[in-house]
Formats: sequence, C-alpha cells, structure tokens
Amino acid sequence: MGKFYVTTPIYYVNDAPHIGHAYTSVVGDAVTRWHRLLGDDVFYLTGTDEHGLKQKQAADALGISPQELADRFSVRFREAADLLDIAYDDFIRTTEPRHYRAVQKFMQAIYDNGDIEKGTYEGLYCVACEAYYTEDELVEGCCPIHGRPVELVREENWFFKLSRYQDRLLEWYDQHPEAVRPQTRLNEVLGFIKGGLQDFSMSRSHFDWGVPLPWDEAQVAWVWFEALPNYITAVGYADDEERFDRWWPVDYHLVGKDILRFHAVYWPAMLMAAGLEPPTCVYAHGWLLVSGQKMSKTRANQIAPSELVDEFGVDPVRYHFLRDTTFGQDGDFSWEGIVARYNADLANNLGNLLSRVATVVARKCNGVGPAPQEGSPLQALAADVYDATASAWDRVAPHEALEATWRLVHETNAYLEANEPWKAEPGPDVDAVMGDALEALRIVSVLAVPAMPRTCQEIWRRIGMSGSVAEERLPDAARWGGYPGGLAVEKGPPLFPRKQAA
Ligand SMILES: [Zn+2]
Repeated sequence: MGKFYVTTPIYYVNDAPHIGHAYTSVVGDAVTRWHRLLGDDVFYLTGTDEHGLKQKQAADALGISPQELADRFSVRFREAADLLDIAYDDFIRTTEPRHYRAVQKFMQAIYDNGDIEKGTYEGLYCVACEAYYTEDELVEGCCPIHGRPVELVREENWFFKLSRYQDRLLEWYDQHPEAVRPQTRLNEVLGFIKGGLQDFSMSRSHFDWGVPLPWDEAQVAWVWFEALPNYITAVGYADDEERFDRWWPVDYHLVGKDILRFHAVYWPAMLMAAGLEPPTCVYAHGWLLVSGQKMSKTRANQIAPSELVDEFGVDPVRYHFLRDTTFGQDGDFSWEGIVARYNADLANNLGNLLSRVATVVARKCNGVGPAPQEGSPLQALAADVYDATASAWDRVAPHEALEATWRLVHETNAYLEANEPWKAEPGPDVDAVMGDALEALRIVSVLAVPAMPRTCQEIWRRIGMSGSVAEERLPDAARWGGYPGGLAVEKGPPLFPRKQAA
C-alpha cells in the first residue's frame, strides 16, 4: 500500500469561489478517490491563503480586521468544497498557529543555511499578484495577468538567493523530467531558469499582515514565501517529524498555469535551501475559459459553482469538468457544452442503460437480477476498459479515464440492442443477457465512483449491491463475475432527466 499526497493551491480568501477553483478541486478529488479505491494511504489537502497586502487592503475597505475578513471568506471556500463533495483530508488556513510555526521554522532553516540576505529592493509591484515584475514582463505598462497598473515599491528587506539555485534546479529537472507536467510546461520552466534567476525579496516591511521573520520581527514574509510552505505545514513539518517524513515529498501539486513559476522554480529552490526534497510533480493545468477569456472578478464573467450544481446536480458538474477538458490544457466552458454532454453521456447513455436494465429485469426476471455469464461477450471488453481506465487515472488523465469507462456503458447498451431481451420470452437467454448487463453496471459504478460518488452509489444500491461502492478495492472489484445474482433490482426515477438544449 503506497502513500499518495495531493494538493490544490490554497485559494485567496478575497476571491469568490468560481468554477476555476472548483475545477482544480474536483480533479484532485477524483484522482485521490481513485487512489483510495486502490487501497493507497491518501492525503488530499486544500485551503485558503489569508495574508498579504491585498487582504489587508480589502479588510481596510470594509472597515474590519484582516483576520475577520479571513474568517468570513475562508468559510465560503469550505462550503464550495463541500458543495462539490470534495473529500479533503485537511483544509489549511495560513492564519493558523501551526502554519506560523512551520513557516518560521522553514525560513529560519534557510536563513541559517545562508541563503537569505539583506538588501534594498525597488521594483514594479502588482498588488493583485503580490509579485514584482520587470519592465519587459509588463503588457502596455500593466500586469500581464491582471491588466492593471503596477506600483513602484522601494523597500529595505530580505532576499532569497535564488540565483544560487540555477544549476541545481536544472540538474534536478534533468534527473526528474516528470517533475513538471505536461511537457510543454516543463519546457517553459526550463526556459525561465536558463534565462537567469534573480534573487527575490522574501520579506515586506511596508505592512504587517503576515508571518514575522524570526530574526527580524519588523518584517513579515512575502505572501508567496509564506503561502507555499502550507504544503509542508499540513503534513507536520513543524510538529511531527515522523509524519512529515512519511508524506513528504508531495506526489502532485495541482496548479493553474499562471502560478507555475512559483511552484516549479521558487518553491523547489526554497525547499532545497531548507534541506528538503522538491515536489515529485507539479502538474499545471490550463484555464477554464469562458468565451475565450480567463475568469476574473474584474471581468465579471465568473460562474459560481452553486449555479451549476443547482441546475445539473453535483455529479454531472463533476463529470463535465473531468470529461470535457484534457487535463493540462485550456478548456472552454459554455452552458451549451455542459447541456450537450449531460444529455449525450449521462441521460442517453448511462442513465438510459440503468433504466433499461431495471425495466427488463422487472418484466422478465421478476425483479431479481440474474448472475453474469462466464465468458460473456462483454467480459474481455470489461478487462480492457479496466486497464485503460486505471492507466489514465494513474497518469492524471481523467478525461481519458472516463472516456474508457464509458466504452463499457456504450457497448452494454449496444449489446442489449443486439439481443433485444425486452422482446424475448423469459428464460435462460434473457437471464444471461441481463446478468451481463448488471455486471457491466456494477463494474462501471466502481470505475466511475471517483468522478460521480453519489450516482455510482445509487446505481450500486439499485442493482441490489449492499454497502458502499467507494469502499470496494481494485483491481478485485473490477473483475468480471462480481455480481452475485439473486439480488432485488429497483427501478427508480431517471438518474439524469434530459435537459432542454440551451
Ligand atoms: Zn497581477
């Protein structure tokens, strides 16, 4: 049994949860649920980022303390996670005492190693990014991410000697080419490192909403320097060495491509400087674009996850996120797109299969599900589907995993159409076909449970299986012949009532 540690970024509390956050969280959730099915020891971390100038300014504008702001807004992200059935093991907040302890220990370790030094900094600062930019990184004088004017900031503070890590980072990626995915993002990271790494200011003196430096309490850690270590805080860096050694290094940091540089250049160098191992893999995904643009508060094109869940239900939203976009690339989200996929894959395919099977079992088998046949025409396909599904989840390719699993759904529908059990007299021939279809449904409900936990549990229950499908263990649960037969099959309401095209 392996360990499997996955993180989402910690989300800025003064954002409203939108489908971009939901997308990352759902992917991490599905991938970790898959590993739970494999029997791995899983730790899935999410949380909120609560310090920095941006939070301070937002709190000032509301006339409340930054801690009150954080308390008020962090809960919205927890609710958004719960709404989407995100089974996180820990929800970290960077204002927690455990995080202060870990960050201070981490910074002190780097300081003691001599890689933090005092200097003067003057630069162009984007408050929304909490980051400095060079002149040529700006687009028409504005932040390349936010399109907003930058501010000239000058301060005396502490610098992390990133320039010393150029060769070590190149060596690390040379030896660990899988440590950034997809490949195009690794190329981007390597290009950035080869372009020359500048030391960066890791502390701030012009505001105090942050973690104080242990050796200079007049300064607080720059928000990124303090946010990134949340990933080590949560697995016991400051408090439990044994626990930390078991979980670190992380298996996957799932991040949006806009924060790749922080995770794949700064963070590994910071870890090396503190004597810790870099992440096993930083997996950068694209943006969920709405009408070709990145969602943002200022563009007013945010979609709240709750709007989608109200309309489609939790599982169809999860399914759409996982199935519609190749993980790693940009996705284009549209209402028409989710309706079309819902109708095609869920209503007409999976929902229809369950409904047909339950109807025929009720009419021709007295409502009792027969056992599948050994050597069924669907048996070899089910084995192939398992292999393809498992391989895809293992590569963090949810769209491929679901595509593979849906081959079994589709082929089982075709098998019913070819045999037309609804036209046949009750007897061994009908029983054989229906047993096979029930077995296919049982296997699909196991393989799809990481994507659609509630739906798969409902299918499991309706075909007469007991207990929790999420507690099944692979690969045994995917082997042909697991449906015992003799179980009462329930014909309930449609799982996915069809939607009108938008
Ligand atoms: Zn910016």
